[in-house]
Amino acid sequence: MMPEQTVKKDSVEEMSTDMDAETLGLKSVGKVYHNLDYEKLFEHETTNEEGRISANGTMMVDTGKFTGRSPKDKYFVHQKPSFENIAWGKINQPMAPEVFDELYADVTDYLSDKDIYVTDGFCGANERTRKSVRFVTEFAWQAHFVKNMFIRPDQDEAGSFAPNFTVYNASNLANEKWEEHGLNSEVFVVFNIEKNVAIIGGTWYGGEMKKGIFTMMNYWLPMEGILSMHCSANVGKAGDVALFFGLSGTGKTTLSTDSSRKLIGDDEHGWDDDGIFNFEGGCYAKCIDLSPDNEPEIYGAIRRDALLENVVACNKGIIDFQDGTKTENTRVSYPIEHIENHEPSLKAGHPKNIIFLTCDAFGVLPPVSKLTKKQAMYYFLSGYTAKVAGTERGVTEPQATFSSCFGEAFLPLPPTTYAELLGEKLEKHGVNAYLVNTGWTGGGYGVGERMSIKATRACINAILDGSILDAEFEQTNWFRLNIPKSLPGVDSSLLNPRNAWADKENFDVTANKLAGMFIENFKKYTSDNDDFDYTQAGPRT
Ligand code: ATP
Ligand code: MN
Repeated sequence: MMPEQTVKKDSVEEMSTDMDAETLGLKSVGKVYHNLDYEKLFEHETTNEEGRISANGTMMVDTGKFTGRSPKDKYFVHQKPSFENIAWGKINQPMAPEVFDELYADVTDYLSDKDIYVTDGFCGANERTRKSVRFVTEFAWQAHFVKNMFIRPDQDEAGSFAPNFTVYNASNLANEKWEEHGLNSEVFVVFNIEKNVAIIGGTWYGGEMKKGIFTMMNYWLPMEGILSMHCSANVGKAGDVALFFGLSGTGKTTLSTDSSRKLIGDDEHGWDDDGIFNFEGGCYAKCIDLSPDNEPEIYGAIRRDALLENVVACNKGIIDFQDGTKTENTRVSYPIEHIENHEPSLKAGHPKNIIFLTCDAFGVLPPVSKLTKKQAMYYFLSGYTAKVAGTERGVTEPQATFSSCFGEAFLPLPPTTYAELLGEKLEKHGVNAYLVNTGWTGGGYGVGERMSIKATRACINAILDGSILDAEFEQTNWFRLNIPKSLPGVDSSLLNPRNAWADKENFDVTANKLAGMFIENFKKYTSDNDDFDYTQAGPRT
């Protein structure tokens, strides 16, 4: 386990004086560093010894013992009126208001008198529905992270900034009384909808702030009839918009970053009556095995103002992107301006194509399938991907994950709320839907290999330029998915997964097994809600 992070701020001189304790909801304040620019953040990170500088001048930090989110430590305050709306359960756990009040006092006491970083950002590129969020953090790198990820206010906007929501992040404060409070651990990430406040303690990980506000957007927007989505988006020269849905590691960031199309955003979007819009002002890309050949735009985005997390570098600052010893989840955040071909408004019209990405480690799903409307609803509600088994040697069995709407971990409302909105929009705008498997081919994990990025991009290009519509289609067994027999730039033997497997018998057994998992998972939508009985569109065993 890594040591706790400590901060050495004595030698940083300048201070922002425009914020007092009362404005910040604290008892007292030390130095308040409000909306520091990138240069100043860099200086603070260096002076505080929060990070090192890579060979090309990019800040590299270690996020401490937390290199990922802590979903089991996430709570909503259980109170009127929001308790009627929330889908309570393992994902959205209740916290008693009294426990919140106690932790809130702990967090604000803890931050009082400390030197703190205050960072203001917008969530949502649509001015009418965007939220103004204020982050209070202990570390300069956390301020840097939220500055990269949220939409940066211009000078006027910063001057008149009035937060709709405030996040207090007391990373180093663990909740010693977690057992007494009936909680999961000393880590807490708590949202108080009525008070428009979130408190975080016991974890340093920046992703809690990013995905925490995403969770709040997933609460606020559907209430106004706007769909919020865990997807990336880009737009072609003809104004044709594509959305890429998918769980973590399926390729949202990789595949939406495409030099021939303008990037709208890589992770979180809204869809209203005018079209789609990004929630964020930056991207958060995986760095493991990153190569300039496969992902030149992302590789090129790693420069000054970007922020690298948990990568391994030699003493000259040269990064070994293959090295996952700190975590496999090495990341870089960067402002979207680091991708040359991005859309500055962060908005676009209604989508023409939506693509569900899945990383099927069983190697059963085809590289690309065209979905009917009902299949689109089925695969959206199923939210399937598969993880490869952990580090245990000899264990090669993949693990299926089903997460509704490809993001159930971030959905405070029942998944059917989002599915209903999506269904209406697909119908209204005549959107084409596809399923793309960025996972294994020629066999499951351990036998086959992962689809090359090149092959996946060729499938995506055929969708985006419409050439897939000219292909001859056939239907697969079990999943009854419509797949093209050939596509430009793709080895035809890959298109039908059964053909790609040497061991056909094993394919049939595996496909049948995966179909069974889909059917089992989907039962939750068929018991009491006929509106969402899309079972007919799913696989058969
Ligand atoms: P998150 O929600 O965690 O941000 P994501 O959906 O954005 O996840 P990516 O960051 O794009 O996922 O991760 C996809 C990873 O898989 C990248 O590291 C990429 O290099 C790798 N990869 C390997 N083969 C493929 C492929 N065929 N298509 C897409 N990505 C691939
Ligand atoms: Mn991503």
